[in-house]
Amino acid sequence: FDRTLEQLRDQPAETTDGTLVSLNANIEFPHEVAACLERGADGIGLYRTEFLYLASEQEPSEEDHYQAYSQVVRAMGDRPVVIRTLDLGADKMGHRPRADNERNPFLGLRSIRLALKNQDIFRPQLRAILRAAVHGDVRIMFPLITTLAELRQARMLLNVVGEDLREAGIECRTDIPIGMMVEVPAAVLMLDRFVKEVDFLSIGTNDLVQYTLAVDRSNESVADLYQSSDPAVLRLIEKSIYEAKKAGLPISVCGEMSSRPARALLLIGMGVRSLSVPPNALPKVKKAIRSVSIKECEEIAERAMTFESAREVDIYLADRLRALV
Ligand code: PEP
Ligand code: MG
Repeated sequence: FDRTLEQLRDQPAETTDGTLVSLNANIEFPHEVAACLERGADGIGLYRTEFLYLASEQEPSEEDHYQAYSQVVRAMGDRPVVIRTLDLGADKMGHRPRADNERNPFLGLRSIRLALKNQDIFRPQLRAILRAAVHGDVRIMFPLITTLAELRQARMLLNVVGEDLREAGIECRTDIPIGMMVEVPAAVLMLDRFVKEVDFLSIGTNDLVQYTLAVDRSNESVADLYQSSDPAVLRLIEKSIYEAKKAGLPISVCGEMSSRPARALLLIGMGVRSLSVPPNALPKVKKAIRSVSIKECEEIAERAMTFESAREVDIYLADRLRALV
């Protein structure tokens, strides 16, 4: 990347009126931490751990998990690392056989559902996360939460695993913040209940778009419908932010939407103060944030919410981005 972007590294993701935005990175492999630090990430907002499963032929052991997480956490120092638990599914199955030839894998046994059904796979991961937590600021996040029962089951399992570790005298931390992905419309609609049972939220727009608009995120023939700027998606995001604020919970956006500068400004205008983007998108998103005031972002959001199609929203956003950044 060019020098101006490099110089951005040490400057905060701060708007022109001095409002700080926490700008974090999404990673899949421990070695990506170097790129995050090089570009001045405030933390790891999404560590997609399923790549540990896809990288090797064998089931990763607790030790494999622990080594990978510790490496990331140590490298990040006192910066937060949000470790997302197993999110295996139709789009991320690797060598693993698809569960019973599901007809609708995106609506099937994936993610937290798969983890809760296969606790022999899930437990070693949870143990490893609690063990790695002694090395830094670790937070755990559950993906694809749809019902309160799922969240409660996952939390209960985490509790049991923590007690096992403590009883065995194994070094660990059991008081880490627990969060959930907001990526299923049902969870958004029930968010006033979910907020009472988690410490933080992170909106996963990739899946939220898919499940809101009934558009397979991997199907090219309907790709034109797959838009995070769709008004229906924006309304769900708006409600999520409203519920988080009301409950005093931190909320972040870690889906691909946050790495598109115009959409990032829209999210900030809607009230988001934390974003997580792929490492290579950090400079361009930071540059956009540093070019605008909160008031400008709020005006963008207010206007964007009046449109009736993703196309109108995008035309408007592109226009504003050109004028401001
Ligand atoms: C998302 O769904 O927006 C997300 C961040 O998770 P993933 O892309 O890994 O499903
Ligand atoms: Mg997702």
